Amino acid sequence: MPHAQAAAATAHSAAPLDRFPKPAADAVCGLTLHTGTLLRPRPSPNRPSLVDSTQPSTPGIVLGLWLLAAVLGCRSRPVAGSSGSISVFVVLDTVRADHIGVCGEARPLTPTLDALVAEGAALSCTAIAPGSWTLPSHASFFTGLEVTEHGAHALANPPEEAEGSSRRKLGPARKLSDAHAVLAESMPAVMVSGNPVLGPSSGLSRGFRHRTVPKHFGKLYGARLVKAVQNMLKENVRDGDLLFINIADAHTPYRSIPEDHPFLSPREGLTWNQSTTDSDWFRFVSGTPDPALETRTRDLYAYGIQRADRTLGRVLDAIEAAGFSRRRLVITSDHGEYLGEHNLLGHGHYLHDENQMVPLLVQPGTLPEGFISATAAHDLIQGQPIQERPVRVAAWPHPKKSALFDQQKFHLIQARSWTPALEWTSDQPTPDGPLGAWLVAAKASASGVGDAELHGLLEQLGYH
Ligand SMILES: [Zn+2]
Repeated sequence: MPHAQAAAATAHSAAPLDRFPKPAADAVCGLTLHTGTLLRPRPSPNRPSLVDSTQPSTPGIVLGLWLLAAVLGCRSRPVAGSSGSISVFVVLDTVRADHIGVCGEARPLTPTLDALVAEGAALSCTAIAPGSWTLPSHASFFTGLEVTEHGAHALANPPEEAEGSSRRKLGPARKLSDAHAVLAESMPAVMVSGNPVLGPSSGLSRGFRHRTVPKHFGKLYGARLVKAVQNMLKENVRDGDLLFINIADAHTPYRSIPEDHPFLSPREGLTWNQSTTDSDWFRFVSGTPDPALETRTRDLYAYGIQRADRTLGRVLDAIEAAGFSRRRLVITSDHGEYLGEHNLLGHGHYLHDENQMVPLLVQPGTLPEGFISATAAHDLIQGQPIQERPVRVAAWPHPKKSALFDQQKFHLIQARSWTPALEWTSDQPTPDGPLGAWLVAAKASASGVGDAELHGLLEQLGYH
């Protein structure tokens, strides 16, 4: 049974999601080529492209391919498995473990994930995201390194304009260094991402043979992402490839919940303005939480999870419809989301369970009991034994946000270890033991020490 269909069968009703535009499952050649250009409008000085793509997109090439297809005749739907076997790595961006049905969520938000587990996939509900936001976590997924080892994260003292325009697009953060080998260099790989942080300025797209990445959040969610995956499968995926997909439907901007949703109240969508003191987000985070805003946020996030799961089901169906069998499937998330807990909204700067506890799924394969670093996805997707890693993570100050709060929030380095449980912030003495050595390295890294210096420091500390 197709994943989307199986998912629908286990949900109470998929009525509001049925309006989610259904992508063309058996697109004829001409239509496929035409829709393939929709996400890649030709850049013009007045209308920049919404999507970075390494795929050819000029009208001439498209017309040529269309004519060739017309001469050769349209390809019939392939038989599953006829195009080869691929590895599929999915990051469900911003998905908290406690919102997964098989992890205890009572509402039917994740029928696709639940069905995968029912079919035999191994799932951990206590995986810990390696970083607190998109950049550091994906850098760990792609390198297999901890955040203080690869050094891609927010900076306490970001360099000024000398870093160039790409730095400004990325924000106050250090991109993934070219010095670290990435998954897409060890196995042939293509990427479709709904999250714009995976574009070239972060270093995360390095090594991918083809990639489709939007320039803004919200531009490649849901049916649009499914269509981009279908196009990638038809045009660029080969036997033996790694297909990496970031599904960002649970990330802001939150979509509105429709009137006829079977179990969620209708809500107007929203996104957070985190750059001024004249915003709902600022008022909430500064200590005047609004119960109505919190309720709305919780419902909108739940709807985002439901949409992300629906997109996942359709992506898996698209892979099968394109004739590929799955050599292995790994699904995880890069971080969670605060929904008012601890007077916080969004993600990225603190390390409570709401921000760090994510699902980790593998099929086929097994997972250990207890806390596990989600960086294990790096090993699992290659079919390798999971490397033993300490389960710990650090978050760094955000200079612009801390300025909004007169340095009272977002100004400290915070670190957490789950084995054994230990929390630390930079206004406390550094603890003894392995976490202490790691914190020294984290502090040096956060203050802008370059990667070479950081590696030297880690070696001196006996950290490998
Ligand atoms: Zn993310």
